Amino acid sequence: MILIQKTPQKVNQNFINILKDILIPPLCAVCGKAGSELVCRQCISKINEIGDLVCDYCGRPLSRIDSGNKMCSFCKNEDFNFYRHRSFTVYEGEIKKIIRKYKYNKIYGLKEIIAGFLERTYFINYKHEEIDYMDTVPGEHMEILCRSLSGLIKIPFAGNILSIKKIIKQQGLDYTQRKNNIKEAFKVKNCVLSYGKNILLVDDVWTTGSTLMEISGILKRAGADKIYLLTIARGKDS
Ligand SMILES: [Zn+2]
Ligand SMILES: [Zn+2]
Repeated sequence: MILIQKTPQKVNQNFINILKDILIPPLCAVCGKAGSELVCRQCISKINEIGDLVCDYCGRPLSRIDSGNKMCSFCKNEDFNFYRHRSFTVYEGEIKKIIRKYKYNKIYGLKEIIAGFLERTYFINYKHEEIDYMDTVPGEHMEILCRSLSGLIKIPFAGNILSIKKIIKQQGLDYTQRKNNIKEAFKVKNCVLSYGKNILLVDDVWTTGSTLMEISGILKRAGADKIYLLTIARGKDS
């Protein structure tokens, strides 16, 4: 009885979706042009990857390398809790629009395109590293994205970070304000899971790095070994 009721509805829905695609082709989420993909090829081609001339540690693009030393001036004086950080691109233009459409307009169909960017950066930078599992900043959009990425790079997604404090929007806050805003905002759910592990910690945008640094810190305190950071984009001047 249940099957008899459900099947025609499903067929009808599929038929409506096919009709919709024919009559209203998807529009590029960036430029609005009609086509067959969620982001058109032209818009994708405008996104430039950050090359390999970056700080070994934080992934900041360098203008030149001084006597073989690939560390930026910022990292020379810092000892972070993370082991490495790499971003796919700089947060501007097309990628900025894609991330905003995904995050704020909840166009989750973009997850495959974005996961593809992260997959590329992962394979270029981290494929020889022994990473045990992947995690992210708590939030629906990042968890959906990480599950998609997990299938591509075959690293399990754990979801072992818990948000324990209401965080006000980081936008418009300076480095110190951001740091205070997210201080003690997260908790490791199961410390046993993190103990002695190498963790790939994924987020969308690196602005000041305060959120990822805070989470790296709690993972380290939970006994994690190396924290590899991976973000889609990093702020232009970060
Ligand atoms: Zn386009
Ligand atoms: Zn650096």
